[in-house]
Amino acid sequence: MTRESVNKEKDVAGVKDLELVRSLFPEMVKRRRHLHRNPEVSYKEEKTSAYVASILTGLGIEVRTGVGGYGIVAVIKGKLPGKTVALRADMDALPIQDEKVCDYASEIPGVMHACGHDGHTSALLAVAEYFARRLDTLQGEIRLIFQPAEEVCPGGAVAMIQDGAIDGADVIYGVHLWTPIPVGTAASAPGPLMASTDEFFVDMKGQGGHGGMPHAAVDSVVAGAALVMQLQTIVSRSVDPLDPAVVTIGSIQGGTVQNVIAEHCVLSGTVRCFKEETRHLIRRRIEEMAEGTAKAYGTEAIIDYVMGYPPLVNHEAEVNRFFREAGNAFGLRAEVSPKIMPAEDFAYYVQQIPGCFVLVGAGNPAKGASYPHHHPKFDLDEESMLYAAGLLITLAESYLGET
Ligand SMILES: [Zn+2]
Ligand SMILES: [Zn+2]
Repeated sequence: MTRESVNKEKDVAGVKDLELVRSLFPEMVKRRRHLHRNPEVSYKEEKTSAYVASILTGLGIEVRTGVGGYGIVAVIKGKLPGKTVALRADMDALPIQDEKVCDYASEIPGVMHACGHDGHTSALLAVAEYFARRLDTLQGEIRLIFQPAEEVCPGGAVAMIQDGAIDGADVIYGVHLWTPIPVGTAASAPGPLMASTDEFFVDMKGQGGHGGMPHAAVDSVVAGAALVMQLQTIVSRSVDPLDPAVVTIGSIQGGTVQNVIAEHCVLSGTVRCFKEETRHLIRRRIEEMAEGTAKAYGTEAIIDYVMGYPPLVNHEAEVNRFFREAGNAFGLRAEVSPKIMPAEDFAYYVQQIPGCFVLVGAGNPAKGASYPHHHPKFDLDEESMLYAAGLLITLAESYLGET
């Protein structure tokens, strides 16, 4: 049997018609470039949201706007009964000045799509169009989640979940276009894929005084310096060496001039790891060390620990589906991803329902897509959107076809 006839036969059974997706590619590029020229930062995605809603409405898709902020939930119900698959894209940009020289560079000073969320949004719009045209063969429901505010905690995912975005959904898939891996490749892993991210601030409050009379003051700078060194032992001495974790002190600020003992010395840092129990261990050790060091130096530790996104933990059955099915999405090559330290609020969805998150290769030095995410010259190989859309469709149809 030829490949064409296999595809044709599959299509009769309601399985994917990726040529339809391919035909939507020029539109994907057009929309992504529109979004790229008109980026909006987290929690301010008003025009982006309106743009997405107008395209979905134009396709005759039922849309709920204002979900958890500027979020949109679009519902595509097939004519055949079945389960509900949620597919998610984030829509926000970053406060970065675009330094690219091209006709689709950002037109908004100081704001830029430097993480590829414009590509996610555009790819998911193509997925919407694909399913909207195939209601007769669609078994079940496709739930499209266009999420605001991924880049800034507490993030848009929690608000959308609280607003019912995934109520009744059986499974969820999401992708991140990813320039560190080449276009045509995609990577994921069972279990923890992306780190949790927390922030902490500690003020080692002392008592100000004359630099020449330290006995009459309590030096917060000495206490702060000691705490910086103490905190380095958490990962090396308290965390399992086989469990990756980071404690970084990103800033230390104390005092104003050379001859005054500083009353305040404030440390701030970030914590990244892959297990909830490790996260809680690190938090506890930071608090214990801050309090213990404060006691040793006679200061007071004022601690503010801010929990950010949890670790993103993929469900094994759905990652297995990715490895099994990826090749059906335009021959996408599936690889096992190492754990990565950036965080993602997609983590909250897979805490609620089964699902998996995939990094879809978008790197291509020949097209200038070689800069890291959040770089002022960041760009992606737009063909990655085709793979992303094909993969989301493939995963959704595989799931619905099985149940
Ligand atoms: Zn980002
Ligand atoms: Zn991102």
